[in-house]
Amino acid sequence: MAKHFVLNTGAKIPSVGLGTWQSDPGVVGDAVYAAVKAGYRHIDCARMYKNENEVGIALKKLFEEGVVKREDLFITSKLWCDCHAPEDVPESLDKTLSDLQLEYLDLYLIHWPFRVKKGSGISNTEDYIPPDIPSTWGAMEKLYDSAHVPPAVDQVECHPGWQQTKLHNFCQSTGVHLSAYSPLGSPGSTWMNSNVLKESVIISIAEKLGKTPAQVALHWNIQMGHSVLPKSVTEERIKQNIDVYDWSIPEDLLVKFSEIKQVRLLRGDVIVNPHSVYKTHEELWDGEI
Ligand code: NDP
Repeated sequence: MAKHFVLNTGAKIPSVGLGTWQSDPGVVGDAVYAAVKAGYRHIDCARMYKNENEVGIALKKLFEEGVVKREDLFITSKLWCDCHAPEDVPESLDKTLSDLQLEYLDLYLIHWPFRVKKGSGISNTEDYIPPDIPSTWGAMEKLYDSAHVPPAVDQVECHPGWQQTKLHNFCQSTGVHLSAYSPLGSPGSTWMNSNVLKESVIISIAEKLGKTPAQVALHWNIQMGHSVLPKSVTEERIKQNIDVYDWSIPEDLLVKFSEIKQVRLLRGDVIVNPHSVYKTHEELWDGEI
């Protein structure tokens, strides 16, 4: 099983990365530390997760202890929606770099394709302003050494219960790598009523292979050619989630994933409102809802 995928830039993205959304300060640092010790080489961060500072402290400790060097790691972060204005992009990257105590990121994403006034949250829809993705992307390109940079990674919700077949095919045909967020179906986000790890197809495959449902869900994504970003603050699960390299789901079981009902979990409900550029879910998700 591939430990990494090669991006259109030539960079290698590890197949499994540690997610850090909803990992509270106080535990996220220990999770990052345990993950890197367990063999993770990719940490998925974002300024909006409000914990990059603590991730940075853990990374510094790992470097100081000689567990890994900076160049051994692949660190992702994301530009939040209140900093889409081209003049705010460099400042936002600087803040993330300073919190993470790093000199560079391996991947910097536009977190979500909507925009709010600087300093605003996302709950007050009157603070929404129309996004201008090309100008935001242009500002991000300027941060990069070369002139024009095609996107290398599309990080989206993807798991057996939302397989993104159309987007998968588009990414394959354009050389963009698909990186899966909420790869376990975000079972900790109780308001989503996710059932991915309780799917009978997944449970029965897990029993047949002697693996956990989480491992089977992650493996499905990796076999599709997608990197995965499982979040956990539980050491045993952190280890379990990267124990995916020396086995695979055989073809006769892989086809059974097509029986799983498809439901998008992160629907972006808050972004769809009369003040937003997206008036309907269909507009936000290009009809894939
Ligand atoms: P996941 O699908 O990774 O699920 C995380 C939940 O699963 C946590 O409650 C965790 O509990 C639990 N869990 C972890 N491992 C196991 C296991 N082996 N068995 C059973 N339960 C397990 O959800 P997320 O929504 O957090 O997505 C992962 C990451 O993707 C995020 O943390 C973030 O980095 C990224 N993301 C990016 C988004 C974007 O907009 N770009 C949106 C959403 C996510 P516990 O921690 O208690 O162990």
